[in-house]
Amino acid sequence: MGTILWTLWNFDILAGNAVFSCSTARVNFRLFRLSLLAAAMPLVAAADIKLPDAAAPTEAAAKPTLPPAAITPVTATPPAAAPVVPVPGPSAAVPASSEPPLEIRRAIAVDEKAPVVSPPVSKIVFTRCEVPAPVIAITFDDGPNPDHTPRLLDMLKARNIKATFFMVGRCVVTWPHIVKRIADEGHEVANHSWSHPLLTSLGNTSLDSQLQKTHDAIIKACGKAPLHYRPPYGAIGMSQRKRIHEKLGYSTILWDVDPLDWKTPRNSKKVEDRILANTKSGSIILTHDIHGTTVDAMPATLDALIARGYQFATVSQLIELERETASTVVATAPAPVPLTPEPTIPVVPMSTLPPETVAPAQPAKAVSVDE
Ligand SMILES: [Zn+2]
Repeated sequence: MGTILWTLWNFDILAGNAVFSCSTARVNFRLFRLSLLAAAMPLVAAADIKLPDAAAPTEAAAKPTLPPAAITPVTATPPAAAPVVPVPGPSAAVPASSEPPLEIRRAIAVDEKAPVVSPPVSKIVFTRCEVPAPVIAITFDDGPNPDHTPRLLDMLKARNIKATFFMVGRCVVTWPHIVKRIADEGHEVANHSWSHPLLTSLGNTSLDSQLQKTHDAIIKACGKAPLHYRPPYGAIGMSQRKRIHEKLGYSTILWDVDPLDWKTPRNSKKVEDRILANTKSGSIILTHDIHGTTVDAMPATLDALIARGYQFATVSQLIELERETASTVVATAPAPVPLTPEPTIPVVPMSTLPPETVAPAQPAKAVSVDE
């Protein structure tokens, strides 16, 4: 069953469609749809452009100037007052009365009548995905860049690789034709804020503005709406993640593979080596298409990953594969064996217990992202 589902999903990658179903009805629908979508995606070539350098700060330039205490690294324990973002496992039930978040509604819109089997809809932060096959997502941040993004797109096109671009809003409005080329060639467009600030230092009004302006600019440039964002420096508060998800439907996309390509002195071989050493199935790879050395590293890096058997997906496709895999596991799991009644344990009144046997109340733990 897993092999069949995986094969079907591969067809979807070829068809440029991220939606994947697992129930019998939806698989039938998928087979029908795949027969209609067998043609390859049209590829629109655009002339390389050469415009002045972007004014947006790079991760490399801005990082050393950041006050370390102000950054909320993704591994940090969130403030006690921050609301907990639950990340239930695949068996978590979806409340019947709650409406799925926006991106889930998009994902299931293909067949609204098909039963939705307990997808983990409340997971809104991803550093990597749990997938049953060697599928990975490579991401490029801080662009578009007139010197390096077009040649990167040539490299991706030559290998039929789809990537995800987390773009800075003011670069989007400066080079909208590169954004259009990115979208036209089947890559995923995503939001990386308007001017690359430390989002944890912003109030709600500025936070909303940073993401909404970029969201609108990307739509204007290419006609496609981002589904995800990545916070600059990976720094974002727990309540901010929830707010952004509620306002824009975005998931927070972090990474599990960081080749440190922004660090000077930059070195293409080190970028390649770090990516190859750390990538595994379900990885989300962080890179920056504003650095020539990063783009220079791509041919050898991509070819080596392909040689190792990895297939490339956009971030949305990778997340969808994780969700469908989780749903499939739940849907195909054998019926639970009825439990034999547990022996009755005599109830001891609390007042009779010695004080040390009463566990102290544990503070609620907030979910932190593995980073
Ligand atoms: Zn960045």
